[in-house]
Amino acid sequence: MRAKKMIDKIKELMYKPERIRNMGIVAHIDHGKTTLSDNLLAGAGMISEELAGRQLYLDFDEQERERGITINAASVSMVHEYKGKEYLINLIDTPGHVDFGGEVTRAMRAVDGVIVVVDAVEGVMPQTETVLRQALRENVKPVLFINKVDRLIRELEVTPEEMQKRLLKVITEVNKLIKVMKPEKYNEWKLDVTNGSVAFGSALYNWAVSVPSMKETGVGFKEVYEYLQSDDWKTLAKKSPLHVVVLDMVVKHLPSPIEAQKERIRTIWKGDINSKVGQAMLNCDPKGPVALMITKIVADPHAGEIAVGRLFSGTLKPGMDLYIIDRKTKNRVQTVGLFMGPKRVEVEEVPAGNIVAVVGLRDAAAGSTCTSVEDMEPFESIQHFSEPVVTMA
Ligand code: GDP
Repeated sequence: MRAKKMIDKIKELMYKPERIRNMGIVAHIDHGKTTLSDNLLAGAGMISEELAGRQLYLDFDEQERERGITINAASVSMVHEYKGKEYLINLIDTPGHVDFGGEVTRAMRAVDGVIVVVDAVEGVMPQTETVLRQALRENVKPVLFINKVDRLIRELEVTPEEMQKRLLKVITEVNKLIKVMKPEKYNEWKLDVTNGSVAFGSALYNWAVSVPSMKETGVGFKEVYEYLQSDDWKTLAKKSPLHVVVLDMVVKHLPSPIEAQKERIRTIWKGDINSKVGQAMLNCDPKGPVALMITKIVADPHAGEIAVGRLFSGTLKPGMDLYIIDRKTKNRVQTVGLFMGPKRVEVEEVPAGNIVAVVGLRDAAAGSTCTSVEDMEPFESIQHFSEPVVTMA
């Protein structure tokens, strides 16, 4: 019953692309990407327990709350309320290892924003630079989450002043990278503590703060420091929960598909922008031709292989025949679905701007362009790069 209401909510939000955020989480290995993903998902579910009529993830298999649930999923979805409105947040898996460079790029193509996670103690590391560069190259907007702040106090025993200094240093370093890697966007995308495009906290202990959250909760630097010193992260997590602060940042600072596609299509697709499909993608038009980019194929024990990807234009329905451009074949869509938490839910149709799970595209692979336009320029052909990792001084 509760799950049914949630499905209805997601079905409603899928038709409101201005309320959708398609994002990824990227980080240097061990900086906390998995912990953050899992705890955002669990946190979004906990809200539902407290507020009647609003339920998510916890209605499903409790076992799935175990660590790492988000690792194997192609995409997980959450509903988050921000300033009295609900948003559908799709967190798409972006492989975190440098070796998966190509895969990361593909996944980056499907998102419009990323949370860059940086360990407060280690600071910016080589893979932080690599994943940030991949995001910026795809015209994907970053926000910053400085994780493991608990370690600063527990392990390094820093003073409040040192804590602030260290956090600011991380922000400055990431900003320097954005400035060098994407100078044309720097003014717009520069991370700024005061506007809330930066949050810091602990994914493991489930708390986070940002300047906007401090104003709302009254939990500021001083309070964080005191709670951490007395090892009372539980109260901190209750007063300033991780998922609220981080998902507020996502909704406020990462673009909707409507906003993003206007700018990003020219970066991620080299076909004729004035063609019907080019214009439809630019406008995230549900009435346009179908243009879908697959990011991952997942195996389902019941449905077999499922192709998951970002629908840039058109509306996907069962029974449609789609060209798999890179394979020069045509497959028939059997079912289309959305994600609710990590679960796939079949629906009648899915419009542009969403992350969709499709059964029937048996020839598709990660990176495939699936479309109703026979001669569409594929997404994947843009960059087959495998350049060496250049670490900036
Ligand atoms: P990933 O490689 O980026 O996915 O990193 P994981 O999420 O697997 O985290 C790496 C390690 O850091 C794990 O042992 C986590 O428990 C730990 N970790 C994650 N977040 C925090 C945090 O906020 N504080 C502390 N102290 N440890 C954390």
